[in-house]
Amino acid sequence: MAKEGLQLLLLTPLILALSLAAGCADDKGTVSPTSATQAADGGQDTGGGFVLYSERKAVLEALKTSIELLSEIDPEKNIAIQFFKDQGFKSEVEEIAQGTHLFKDLRGFESPALSALGKNKINYLEKGNCLESESHIDASVSEIGNLQSDLCVSLENLRRIPPSSLLREVLSLMLHEATHLGGAQEEDAKSWQKEFSEYFGKRFGEISRESVVAPTFQAIMRSQNLIRDSLEMAERWPKDPRIFTKIGKVVEELESLPGLNDELAFKIKVKPKNLRDFRIYSNSAKKLINKLYMKFEIHKIDFKLLERIRVPLSLMPPDKVFETLQEIENDLHSLSVEFLNVIDEPTSPSEGLIFSDPFSPGPF
Ligand SMILES: [Zn+2]
Repeated sequence: MAKEGLQLLLLTPLILALSLAAGCADDKGTVSPTSATQAADGGQDTGGGFVLYSERKAVLEALKTSIELLSEIDPEKNIAIQFFKDQGFKSEVEEIAQGTHLFKDLRGFESPALSALGKNKINYLEKGNCLESESHIDASVSEIGNLQSDLCVSLENLRRIPPSSLLREVLSLMLHEATHLGGAQEEDAKSWQKEFSEYFGKRFGEISRESVVAPTFQAIMRSQNLIRDSLEMAERWPKDPRIFTKIGKVVEELESLPGLNDELAFKIKVKPKNLRDFRIYSNSAKKLINKLYMKFEIHKIDFKLLERIRVPLSLMPPDKVFETLQEIENDLHSLSVEFLNVIDEPTSPSEGLIFSDPFSPGPF
């Protein structure tokens, strides 16, 4: 049947991506026991020494990302400013609530300390501690309250942080140092660090590529299955009310796409080479959601008893149903290709992969 062939073809990039996502270990930087780096510097010492969980490269990358996110000029994109606006201003620690140490004024969020973080000299220690004071073995500033201070970072110490929490810890630590540049004494710097870290954990959850990539493909694939079922139903009876329930489910799937409305979260987790590709993908998804709302006249009402499925309240003309569903099917296909583009995976059209049973749970 020709239509079936077409559907398989449309599904192909997704299947390919699913298999890639399943086997795609990200650069978590977990150090294998045979790593040369480790043998050289004695990490994972079996004689009761410390364990190096993260690769040097991963630590450097986390530092670079942290400094970039903290010293970002645009207040809408600066992670410390977002923290302050979302949560910090409500802090019980007065210095945090007032933005002391970080902000010159709370209207434009101009921050000499955060800017300094992006400009000042940083000494990266391969081994050993920055200072032998308990609080500053991992990182330090040469002088508290001096915006021109040099910074120190111990790469060796930071390698003891597991990859899963590396970015969160390093970001929080660098914010700690930034508040020192802005004049914070140790207790306040620690409070900033702690409150920021809590915020980061709450807002971003698990920091891994897979936490976005796999659920995205699963959601698109479930949507494609729903549309395919709907097409079959529409062939028999375009007014079948189950079609419209399925469309409601597709909307729910698309609205739950991870990171769709949080560019920063997407950037941190997926690390796309080009944010422009992300915007193209995210705009397409939003357009598609709107199209479903418009064409199927779905009203935003949560029927909690109906498993929160949004039920379309009035139906489109029967003769329009089939072609509209086909259009949606094509849109979903384009969306999957655009997402592949964001995550920078090849979009080879014919790998001979056939998805024979759309109801099987797949590789997850
Ligand atoms: Zn400190």
